[in-house]
Amino acid sequence: MSILIYAESAEGKFKKVAFELASYAKKVAETLGTTVTAVTVNAGNVSDLSKYGVDKVLKVNSEKLAGFTAKAYADVIRQAAEKENVKLVLLSSTTDSLYLAPLVAVALNAGYASNVVGLPLSTSPFQVKRNAFSNKAFNITEIATDVKVLGLAKNSYGVFENGSSLAEEDFSPAIGENDFGVKVQSVEKASGKVTIADAEIVVSGGRGLKGPENWGMLEELAGVLGAATACSKPVSDLGWRPHTEHVGQTGKPVAANLYIAIGISGAIQHIAGINSSKVKVVINADADAPFFKVADYGIVGDAFEIVPKLTQKLKEF
Ligand code: FAD
Repeated sequence: MSILIYAESAEGKFKKVAFELASYAKKVAETLGTTVTAVTVNAGNVSDLSKYGVDKVLKVNSEKLAGFTAKAYADVIRQAAEKENVKLVLLSSTTDSLYLAPLVAVALNAGYASNVVGLPLSTSPFQVKRNAFSNKAFNITEIATDVKVLGLAKNSYGVFENGSSLAEEDFSPAIGENDFGVKVQSVEKASGKVTIADAEIVVSGGRGLKGPENWGMLEELAGVLGAATACSKPVSDLGWRPHTEHVGQTGKPVAANLYIAIGISGAIQHIAGINSSKVKVVINADADAPFFKVADYGIVGDAFEIVPKLTQKLKEF
C-alpha cells in the first residue's frame, strides 16, 4: 500500500502542515513497508520535503492553478493517486484541505476520515482515532474501502526530520474548464504577519481590551513571540478587528502550540475552537472567568498592566 500526500504551499513556500503531514506519512509508510510520494502545486523549491521523509515528488506547475480552486486541485490529487496507484491519500486539516479531501475521496471511490489524530491503530482492519465534538471526545473509525483518504488534525503529530533522497518528477495532469466552475475572485489577507492557520503561537484579545485603540500592546506581544493575532467573536463583530481574526466555533479553529487569551471570558463557543491548542494561557481580571477552568496557566489581573510587563520581560530574553 503506497502513500500519497498533498503537500500544501502558499506563494511558493510550503506550509508547516506540509512538513507535519510528511513526517506522519513517513511513519505510516515505515509501518506498511512502503514509500511516500508528495504531490505539490506551484510549490517552488521542493527539496525541503526530503528532510521529512518524502521519497518522490510529483511537481505540478501551472498558471491555471495559480489561485486555489478546489475542484481543479482535487482533480490533480486524484490523477496523482491514480498514476502512482496509491491506496492511501493523506491531507492536512487546513481550510483548503478540508475542502479538498471529500472531493478527492468521492473521485477515488474512497472512504474518508477527517480530524485523524495519531498513527493508525491497526492496518487490517484499517482503524484510526479521530477528534470529535470540537475535541471534547474521540472516536475510532474503521475504513473498509480499498483506497482510503485521511485528513490529519493540525498540530496533532508534530514535525520530525527523517532524511531521504528525493526523486523529482514534473507532472502535468489534465485540467479541464469544468474544473473552474467555482473560482476564488479575490483574497482578503489577514493583517497579522503570521497567519492563524500556520501559527505556532497565537495571541488573542477579547472585549476586555475595551477598544481597537488598545490592540497595539497585543500586537507588540505577538511581534516579540512571532505569533499570529486573533480575537473573540464580539471583537470582530464590533469591527475592532477584521473577521479573519475571529476564532472559535463559528470562526477559525486554532490548534497552536501556545494560545494566549487576553481579556477573553472563555465562553463555550470560544473554547470549542481553540481547545486543541497544546498550552492555553489566560490573562483576565476576573478570577471566576470560565477560561481559567480550561487554561494550563492563568494570570488574574489587569491586562493593561500585565501585557506590557510580559512583553518587556520577553524582550530581555
Ligand atoms: P466578554 O464575555 O465580554 O468577556 C470579556 C472578558 O474580559 C471578561 O471575562 C472580563 O473579566 C475580562 N476583562 C475585562 N477587563 C479586563 C482587563 N482590564 N484585563 C483583563 N481582563 C479583563 N465567541 C467567540 O469568541 N467565537 C465564536 O466562534 C463564537 N461563536 C458563537 C456562536 C454562537 C451561536 C453564539 C450564541 C455565540 C458565539 N460566540 C462566539 C460568543 C460567545 O458566546 C461569547 O459571547 C464571546 O466569546 C465573549 O467574548 P469575550 O470573551 O471577548 O467578551
